[in-house]
This record gives sequence, structure tokens and C-alpha cells, in this order.
Amino acid sequence: DVTAVFDLPDEAATQLLGENLAVAIAPGLVIFLEGDLGAGKTTLARALIRALGHTGPVKSPTYALVEVYVVSSLYLYHFDFYRFESPEEFLDAGFGEYFNDASVCLVEWPDKAAGCVPSPDLRIHLQHAGSARVAALAASSERGASCVRTLTS
Ligand code: ADP
Ligand code: MG
Repeated sequence: DVTAVFDLPDEAATQLLGENLAVAIAPGLVIFLEGDLGAGKTTLARALIRALGHTGPVKSPTYALVEVYVVSSLYLYHFDFYRFESPEEFLDAGFGEYFNDASVCLVEWPDKAAGCVPSPDLRIHLQHAGSARVAALAASSERGASCVRTLTS
């Protein structure tokens, strides 16, 4: 497995990781953003989406479940399944078709859709470390590994 750990002493460090990810991603990539409330999942996603060229607001998808961006000639879907009461809601909503070779999917709270959401190429686990954060990345496909290698090279 290809893994990497990044210390994120402040919000700017998390944003920089998001900006670096924007250069490392490729169409078809599925990224799970894991970690507690306030760990920085949306902050990371927002920085990534802005770095891709989106100039408008990047809302947390907590209520809408998904926000769609068309940037840098790709479809980027930012999901948040926190409010799911059962994983089957993923299927009922028809979200399966959003996961394809032309899209990039960022998924907050993937555990809430366990068994229904496709497997990730890359898992990013964000953790509180005092007032700072730590990001642990683990790739589970060649596409994910290539992303981690770009970040660490
Ligand atoms: P999540 O989506 O994981 O629930 P958010 O990104 O919405 O978390 O919120 C993270 C909060 O933590 C923000 O208020 C942000 O200002 C704060 N914060 C403090 N330090 C960091 C850090 N290193 N990285 C990200 N957010 C941080
Ligand atoms: Mg969030």
C-alpha cells in the first residue's frame, strides 16, 4: 500500500494539501474524506475545488448531500453522507451513476453509505491533534497510488 502522513499545524496547511491534491488528481478518482466533525474534510475539499479554478462559493454538502462542480474540464462531485439513516439511501438517490471514469468524487462520511458507495482509490483520514490536524493518506488502487506519489515527490 502507498501511504503518506502530513502534519497540518493550521488551516493554511490543510488548504495547501488541497491545492497540491488538485494537481495530483485524475478523472475517475474516488477520494474518501474521513474523520470527526470539524476535522477539516470540507476545508480540504474546498481548497481542492478552488485550486481547480472554481471561483464561487464551496458549500458543505451536509444538507444537499452533493454539490456538483464543472471545473478544469471535469465533473467533480462533493458528497456528504452524514445525514444518511441507512446506506441504501445512496442507491435510492441514484448516486451510483456519478461514479464514473470522467468524474472525480470526494466523499465525506463514506461509512454512512457502506456497502453501497463504490470503493475509493484514496482514503484521507483527518484527525485532530490538539488544535492542529494530521492527515493520513492510503491508496488502494494504482490511480490512488499515483496521486500519493505526486504529492510526496
Ligand atoms: P469537517 O468537514 O471535517 O466537519 P470543516 O472543514 O467543516 O470540518 O471544519 C474544520 C474547522 O476546523 C474549521 O472551522 C477550521 O477553521 C478549523 N481548523 C483548525 N485547524 C485546522 C486545520 N489544520 N485544518 C482544517 N481546519 C482547521
Ligand atoms: Mg464537512
